[in-house]
Amino acid sequence: MSAFLDALRARLGEPGLLVGGDLSAFETDWRKRYPGRALAVARPATTEEVAAVLQLCQAHRVPVVPQGGNTGLVGGSTPDDSGQQLVLSLSRMKRLREIDVANASLTAEAGCVLADVQAAAAGAGMLFPLSLAAEGSCTLGGNLATNAGGTQVLRYGNARELCLGLEVVTAAGEVWQGLSGLRKDNTGYDLRDLFIGSEGTLGIITAATMKLYPAPKERLTALAACNSPDDAVNLLRLARERAGDALTGFEVMNRASLALVARELPQLAQLAQPLDAAAWTVLLELSDAESAEHARQVFEGLLEAAFEAGIVQDAAIAQSLQQARDFWHLRESIPLAQAQAGLNIKHDIALPVSAIPGFVAEMDAALARYLPGIEVIDFGHLGDGNLHYNVQAPAGVAPAAFLAAHEAPINAMVYDAVQRRGGSISAEHGIGRLKREELAQRKDPTALALMQSIKRALDPLGLLNPGRLV
Ligand code: FAD
Ligand code: ZN
Repeated sequence: MSAFLDALRARLGEPGLLVGGDLSAFETDWRKRYPGRALAVARPATTEEVAAVLQLCQAHRVPVVPQGGNTGLVGGSTPDDSGQQLVLSLSRMKRLREIDVANASLTAEAGCVLADVQAAAAGAGMLFPLSLAAEGSCTLGGNLATNAGGTQVLRYGNARELCLGLEVVTAAGEVWQGLSGLRKDNTGYDLRDLFIGSEGTLGIITAATMKLYPAPKERLTALAACNSPDDAVNLLRLARERAGDALTGFEVMNRASLALVARELPQLAQLAQPLDAAAWTVLLELSDAESAEHARQVFEGLLEAAFEAGIVQDAAIAQSLQQARDFWHLRESIPLAQAQAGLNIKHDIALPVSAIPGFVAEMDAALARYLPGIEVIDFGHLGDGNLHYNVQAPAGVAPAAFLAAHEAPINAMVYDAVQRRGGSISAEHGIGRLKREELAQRKDPTALALMQSIKRALDPLGLLNPGRLV
């Protein structure tokens, strides 16, 4: 391996290669579920350097684990414990290459932090709508590699729907120059869509052209207390009818999620109870292109109608920008509160919205029977039919022991119920190492075989993120 590392050092220079020392920030995933050991960390600063790294990896048969902000939740971005895998960090590729306001697009390098991309768009008077709780650390490349969703999918779509073009380095170290601001381009197979969501198994995304939108004139946020998932689904339908495209966020938090935030993050305890505890608290966001008054009228009309129909018991419209941020902060703090409470069994599931109340009723009851005291932290993007249906150990039971004994049977219960309703075992976090076996068992066999042949064609030596996804 020393010949490989010497060649890498000669090509990348000192800042471009980390060998030895404390590499733990690159070796441990966000949830600390997959501690690993890297051969080294390569930090190329340009697309040409990424290409050179992959050429060397191919020549020396070194497996590569691409890494952006390392906020992924499925064990995709960190090395295994063999000490043989090279981490390829895109963190030095941070250039904003172009903003084209007339074309409503922006081109940025893969290592740009999502919040910086949003800020660059805002600086040009535009909106880059992709938004998730990890936006202060996750990167554009990671967002595309996982086809990230987040809180604005309802109106603007996920990372895939926001992407116009990609620049990708292949396993052989060639550069595919597919950056383009075109909205229409029917010239054969869609390579862009192939790389989006491929979790670093088919190529390295080095830059992307993304869609921008007009910045809304006003954004209003409200919380609404619902007695049941059924009521929340009815509220979604009403909100769509009344607000149309102006409805940009529709998130839910069950009672246990808010209680968990209050317990684990006492500094948020005050925030965590703006309304009386409800079975499901809904966070709604309206973005209005007309005016602040218009937005408020629509919102008040919607909430009044919801009260009258008996589907909302209580509601609060944020009275200031700060209060709106507080409402969102509450919602976005749930993953952190969970991480602090210790490992849990995560399910990032997608279902037809109409099937969600039935799923929740069946599963909550089944889990309570299976293990009394078990806690379901159920929250997420109801507007997209995406729930984070996470299962936590009963009070007093150590999380590690809980996972060892119950992860497999609980996964089987949850995923069987999801599959019966035509749902997906991964709505937005991807497969990584966490769900690879599950995917192999549950995905349509023809689809799996097609995925494997694509993998073999694009990465014949199997060096790109081995052991993940396929
Ligand atoms: P990483 O974690 O570094 O990598 C993720 C995967 O992509 C890995 O398989 C990696 O190998 C690959 N990869 C990374 N960069 C590249 C590249 N340039 N080329 C090829 N492959 C690459 N996700 C959502 O979708 N919606 C949410 O609402 C959401 N909320 C979150 C909240 C919290 C608190 C946290 C910690 C995570 C959340 N996530 C969410 C998950 C995560 O933030 C996203 O998956 C994000 O897109 C990952 O970006 P990253 O730069 O951190 O990628
Ligand atoms: Zn999410």
